[in-house]
Amino acid sequence: MTRIIPFVTRSGKSEAAGWLTALNGVLAPHAEIRLLADVSQADRQVTELAIVANPDPAELLLLPNLKWVQSLWAGVERMAAELPPSSLKIVRLVDPQMAETMSEAVLAWTLYLHRDMPTYARQQAQQRWQEHDLKLPEDQTVTLLGLGHLGAAAAQRLKANGFTVQGWSRSEKTLDGIRTFSGEAGLKQALATTHIAVVLMPLTSETRGLMGKEALAALKPGASLINFARGPVIDDSALLEALDNGHVKHAVLDVFATEPLPAGHRYWTHPSVTVLPHISAPTIKKTASQLVKRNVMAFLNTGEIPAAIDRSRGY
Ligand code: NDP
Repeated sequence: MTRIIPFVTRSGKSEAAGWLTALNGVLAPHAEIRLLADVSQADRQVTELAIVANPDPAELLLLPNLKWVQSLWAGVERMAAELPPSSLKIVRLVDPQMAETMSEAVLAWTLYLHRDMPTYARQQAQQRWQEHDLKLPEDQTVTLLGLGHLGAAAAQRLKANGFTVQGWSRSEKTLDGIRTFSGEAGLKQALATTHIAVVLMPLTSETRGLMGKEALAALKPGASLINFARGPVIDDSALLEALDNGHVKHAVLDVFATEPLPAGHRYWTHPSVTVLPHISAPTIKKTASQLVKRNVMAFLNTGEIPAAIDRSRGY
């Protein structure tokens, strides 16, 4: 029997169609993935599993017997925050390929800051020929704020490229060759020695606005910031102030409180900001489909639901 599994997404038509092709390619004939709008009322009543990609959480409430959702995104912040606390399990995408892709992005943009590309781009616009001192990577301390699946992999990649790497997480951690911190005092201590801070933690009630006035002031003067996690982890007005007064030298921002970043937002034109359109680690359909297949088939065959996020922690 082919099981009908709804796909709930806010992605555009062609992105959704690409996912349907990829998922049906690996799950046929055991399951058929259909857009929620194409699932009959009868099927909606009995469905226990939905596949989601940045869904409107309210749409999931149209499935009264839903036990779990498999996200095609690693970040599931909106569902975690907006779905009523219930037994519904949220399984996010944990794909080793995504950790590779994110590590590559962290390395690329760390090198961009390390090699002072924003300064040289400004100089080129002014047709100015001027050399600046180059520091050794080992004399640049890069701090990962978040040492989970993505942060820990990025830390190793940076270390392999010669940077001095440290990290901060909610619980204490031991990582080979990487100095680790936790707790409020640990955050201040880590920021005080940071040349480049990389935000890679989920948005929760605890991390919203974490990089505000106080944390930004705790950074070493002239430090730079990369945010590849979620926009609201940063307090935008505090960051703009720190960029304006030069305490923060440059910010590479891939994620924003409102996406797409609204026209006219100061980030678009700020000389010390690089704006990226949420591209640091897109889900790779080829590897993600195989992971989803494994999880879905295990559930269909044995009823086993994969490890889900902890709703009380928010991630
Ligand atoms: P994980 O859940 O594996 O890791 C999260 C890390 O953040 C953990 O180390 C956790 O600490 C830490 N953390 C959480 N809350 C706090 C807190 N209050 N104080 C200190 N540390 C905290 O997530 P991933 O690494 O897989 O992903 C991180 C985020 O990256 C995602 O939530 C998503 O928002 C973002 N992302 C962005 C993408 C993009 O393209 N821009 C793509 C994919 C993901 P502990 O280890 O103690 O639990």
